[in-house]
Amino acid sequence: MMETHCDHLIIGGGIVGLWLASLLKQQGSSVLLVEQEALGKGQTVVSQGIIHAGVKYQLGNKKDQLQQEVALAASLWRKCFLGQGIFDLSSVPLLSSVYYLWQLPQVGLGAIKKAILSRALKSVSKLVAPEAYPKALSYAKKQGFVLEVAEQVVDVSALLAHFASYLGSNALLGVPQNFDQDKNGHITAVTIAHGAKRMKIIPRHVYFTAGAGNAALLEQLKPGSNSALMQRRPLQMVYYTFTKEETAEPLFMHALKGGTTPLFTITSHVNAKQELVWYIGGAVAEDPASRSSQAQIAYVMDQMQSHFPDITWKKAQFRCFFIDRAEDAQPKGRRPLRAFNQVHANYNIIWPSKLTLAPLVAKSIVDHVEQSKETNFAPCDVQDWPSPPCALAPWDGG
Ligand SMILES: Cc1cc2nc3c(=O)[nH]c(=O)nc-3n(C[C@H](O)[C@H](O)[C@H](O)COP(=O)(O)OP(=O)(O)OC[C@H]3O[C@@H](n4cnc5c(N)ncnc54)[C@H](O)[C@@H]3O)c2cc1C
Repeated sequence: MMETHCDHLIIGGGIVGLWLASLLKQQGSSVLLVEQEALGKGQTVVSQGIIHAGVKYQLGNKKDQLQQEVALAASLWRKCFLGQGIFDLSSVPLLSSVYYLWQLPQVGLGAIKKAILSRALKSVSKLVAPEAYPKALSYAKKQGFVLEVAEQVVDVSALLAHFASYLGSNALLGVPQNFDQDKNGHITAVTIAHGAKRMKIIPRHVYFTAGAGNAALLEQLKPGSNSALMQRRPLQMVYYTFTKEETAEPLFMHALKGGTTPLFTITSHVNAKQELVWYIGGAVAEDPASRSSQAQIAYVMDQMQSHFPDITWKKAQFRCFFIDRAEDAQPKGRRPLRAFNQVHANYNIIWPSKLTLAPLVAKSIVDHVEQSKETNFAPCDVQDWPSPPCALAPWDGG
C-alpha cells in the first residue's frame, strides 16, 4: 500500500474544504484534500452563489449575529475578486455585482419602506425608480418597491474550476475507509481507497469538511458527544430553462413578503447549450416533504405566473430536485447563526452554514496554524493518484 505524510488532511471538497486547502497550500503547508466524487458535489454546486452581505437579515426585527458574520465574509470575498484579498479570485467571473430586493405588497408597506430606508441598510442599498428596474422586472406585476443591494453573485462552476486548478494533485479522488486513532482519540492514519488502489495517509491534523458526509465519517470517530452534531434542512429547488427563441433576461432577486426568508429567490445562469436558466429557491423550496415533485413544479409555476404574468410559463421547462442543507444541529432545527468549527484531539469538524462564510472559517484556521507554526513536512502532492473532477450544475446534468 502507498504511504504518505502530510501536515493537513482535508476530507470533503465542497466550498469550505477548497478554501481551507487552498489557503494552507498558499501558506506553504503540506496539504492533501480527499474528495469522494466531484469537487463541490454536495451543496456547493447547487448553491445560488449569492455572497450575502447581510442586507436580507437586517429586514428582520432582531439584530442577528449572522448579519455581522456575513458582512465580514462578504468583504473578504470582494477583495479576493479584485485580486487584493487573501486569495486571488480575480479571474473568477461574477454573474452579478448587485442584487435586488423586491418588497411585495403587504400590510404596512409604507412603514416597512420607511424603516428599511432609515436603517443601516441605507449605506448598502438604494431604492430603485421604476424606470431603472432590472429588465426582467418588465415581465412582472408592478407592485411593492425594489431596492438595489451591493451583494455579489459568483459563478460557482467557475469558482470550483479555479480551486481545482490551484490545488492540482493536492486534491485526491477517493473515499476514507479507515481511521486509526490512539488512546487519546488522535487520528494517526487515514486509509483512502479509489477502486482497488489504497493509500495510507499519516496526517498531523485532519479537517472534516464533507458537508452531509460528515455525519457518517464522525460515526467512526465518536468525537465524544451522544447528541447528533449535524442537522439537515431539506429543500426542493426548482429551475426554469428558457428556450433560445424566448426573450428573457437574467434576474438576481429576493421577493420578500415579510420576515427574512424571501418568498422566492431567483438567480440566473447559462447552461451548456447557452440557454438562460432561472434558478428558484427561498420559501417556495422549503418544507419539501409536503409536496411531490409534480406538486412542487405546479406550485412554483403558479407563483411565477402570478408574479411574472408577461412570461409564457411552460410546465415542461421546469425541473426540480431535492437537496439537504447540512449544518451543525440547532434547537428546534433553526438555521445556524454562524459557521461551525469545533476542535477534537487533532481534528476539526466544520460546517460553514453558508457559502459566504467559507473563507472566514478557513482564514481563522489558517491564521491559527501560522501562529503555532504547525508545519513539519515538505509541501506534498501525490502525482500517481487521480484527482477529482468538478461537479456539474443541475442544469448541465449534475
Ligand atoms: C439549494 C442551496 C442554495 C444555497 N445558496 C446559497 C447562497 O446563495 N449563498 C450562500 O452563502 N450559501 C448558500 N447555500 C449554503 C451553502 O451552499 C453551503 O453552506 C455550503 O456549500 C456548504 O459547503 P460544504 O463545503 O460544507 O459542503 P458541501 O458543499 O456539501 O461539500 C461536501 C463535499 O464533501 C464530499 N464528501 C461527502 N462525504 C465524503 C466522504 N466520506 N469522503 C470524501 N468526501 C466526501 C462531497 O462529495 C462534497 O463534495 C445554499 C445551500 C443550498 C442547499
